[in-house]
Amino acid sequence: MIDLKQNIQYIKGIGPNRAKLFNLLGIYTVEDLINYYPRTYQDRTNIKKIEDLQDGEEALIEAVTVSGISMFKIRRNMVVSKVLVQDDTGRCLITWFNQDYIKTKIHPKEKYKFFGKVIKKSGQIEMSSPVFDEEGENKNTGKIMPVYSTTKNLSESTIRQAVKNALELINEKIEDTLPEYIKEKYNLMELDEAVRKIHFPDTLKNIEKTRNRLVFEELLTFQLALLSLKNQYDNEIRGIKYSKNVHMSDVINTLPFNLTKAQLRVLEEIDNDMESEKPMNRLLQGDVGSGKTIVAMISAYKAVKSGYQVAVMAPTTILATQHVENFNKILEKFGIRCELLVSSLTKKQKSIVLDKLKNGEIDILIGTHALLQDNVEFKNLGLVVTDEQHRFGVKQRSVIAGKGNNPDILVMTATPIPRTLAIIVYGDLDISIIDELPPNRKKIDTLAVKENMTGRIIDFIKKNIDEGRQAYIVCPLVDENEEMIDIKSVEKLAESYKNEIFKDYKVEILHGKMKSKDKEQVMQDFKDNKISILVATTVIEVGVDVPNANIMVIENAERFGLAQLHQLRGRVGRGKFKSYCILKYASNSAIARERMKTMTTTEDGFKIAEKDLELRGSGEFFGTKQHGLPEFKIANIFEDVKILKQVQELALKIEMADPKLEKEENRKLKTVVTKIREERIEL
Ligand code: ADP
Ligand code: MG
Repeated sequence: MIDLKQNIQYIKGIGPNRAKLFNLLGIYTVEDLINYYPRTYQDRTNIKKIEDLQDGEEALIEAVTVSGISMFKIRRNMVVSKVLVQDDTGRCLITWFNQDYIKTKIHPKEKYKFFGKVIKKSGQIEMSSPVFDEEGENKNTGKIMPVYSTTKNLSESTIRQAVKNALELINEKIEDTLPEYIKEKYNLMELDEAVRKIHFPDTLKNIEKTRNRLVFEELLTFQLALLSLKNQYDNEIRGIKYSKNVHMSDVINTLPFNLTKAQLRVLEEIDNDMESEKPMNRLLQGDVGSGKTIVAMISAYKAVKSGYQVAVMAPTTILATQHVENFNKILEKFGIRCELLVSSLTKKQKSIVLDKLKNGEIDILIGTHALLQDNVEFKNLGLVVTDEQHRFGVKQRSVIAGKGNNPDILVMTATPIPRTLAIIVYGDLDISIIDELPPNRKKIDTLAVKENMTGRIIDFIKKNIDEGRQAYIVCPLVDENEEMIDIKSVEKLAESYKNEIFKDYKVEILHGKMKSKDKEQVMQDFKDNKISILVATTVIEVGVDVPNANIMVIENAERFGLAQLHQLRGRVGRGKFKSYCILKYASNSAIARERMKTMTTTEDGFKIAEKDLELRGSGEFFGTKQHGLPEFKIANIFEDVKILKQVQELALKIEMADPKLEKEENRKLKTVVTKIREERIEL
């Protein structure tokens, strides 16, 4: 038996140069290679009749050559080989490019099987560059072929061959990770069988069962790793013990409103964490507008008055700036010094802030990613708050935490996430939920409309602006990094709103490609009501607070996920005015209609998240570019919810019975879990 930790160069056909290409795919060892699972499969077992071939599909035919190969030189360096073949239903023209050897392989009036891509044009059926077998041969056809994600200069067939060679080298059974009792109870096949079959299945039908085995193991070991990390925070690591003599109520009593029950409950949970010796690692989930910021402020008060500094990290400059304002409003009167650190500060401004931070003349530092930089040194960092965590990765969280000595960590997110997912995404955190909105909130009227309502919407916006209100118009540019072409469409739409439809009103545009200084100016002007209509991309999704804005129009609403629509909608309904969210949609698909219906009938972020999961069954749920999510080799936590639930129940049982996985039956499980743990901490 070869050592699975061997370098891949050990495998036949992989030399130093190819090894580098494999490295690009994250494959270094034999084990990595056999755990590099196919992206999908090609079914090369199912013979089709030529008359049934569809344009664009990849298909297998069995046909006889009508004549021999003819070769044409169509350009310098380009030779085409052609042959006409037929079965009892029709004829098909087959072509290869620069494949000289073909002429020695294909003979007239003989039967072959061809597998390749079908092209149908003006009644003619063609197949381009197919693989083939002569009669009785089963080299390239007659099986299910794995398809791998690959990288430039590394062909799929090289990967396929390498995997095959590796599996042949491993001439004994691959040692199983899962103990017998688990395999029996959940009816799972052996690891050895699963690994071999996932690469080279005998039928498409059985792939599901094979895949389930591997998904089960991957999710189970990941969940166990998170549980054991949490266990370690809870029982082994010593954190800061904040003073019992600093009372959160001192701030609470000065607030202009009463906190909700949910806010008070969450603050108590945080207070307990802070006063205890174990480091706090807490996720605070709460819908947009549920009042998470004030919870962060009060926690910060506790930390500062106990003698520590606080770092607050927000995803955008606008949001960080807004936080500084709000923190100061509440905390300045307690003598707490709060400052901003963002990349747009001048060098001089930055160095002043950094000096003060090091000397302990700043109590709370609020900023963006700029906080992560090496030169940001605290005197005594005790609490880290990250706002809108879904924008930050686990790694960033640990970088900032590393600037203190086991500081407490509070992670805030407005992306509601169903519980099952929360414990695999945030399984090493405790979770607090604000499930109640402040009582002064006005219900937001949500309408889903088609293009033909545009005129009435425009009149409605004008009427509201004439009464002093403001409006957002959001266009679907899902990600700030998306192609310029989409920006153009936003700009075009904005121009028409600006110069035609609302030409008597003050209209401005906001998108992610603008300079941050310009963005901030526009945002500030909108806050100051110098702008009436803001045409924007989803850059406004995060946290901006303009209570006077009471209308949000979302163009092409069908192109957004439910969770995102919900986040966007949270920008209105923040003041004392009746607010509206108007979803314009063009698609008639059942899913689009179902989404619109969900948005118009519920405002509960958790219900919307569940529905989103149900309707999509995919990672889009979090928006397109989602950071901080675990990357799985085979599992898809959005689609494998059923297995995920089984696994979570089992993981808790294992954790209870054998928290450190010391029992003999869990020995191999422990090896894998330990590895995942280490990767997660290092990240
Ligand atoms: P989010 O959870 O989206 O971060 P914020 O913390 O920004 O929400 O709160 C939204 C607004 O609600 C802020 O203006 C805040 O001052 C206000 N707010 C927070 N808690 C309450 C409360 N209990 N009663 C009334 N208003 C509140
Ligand atoms: Mg917030």
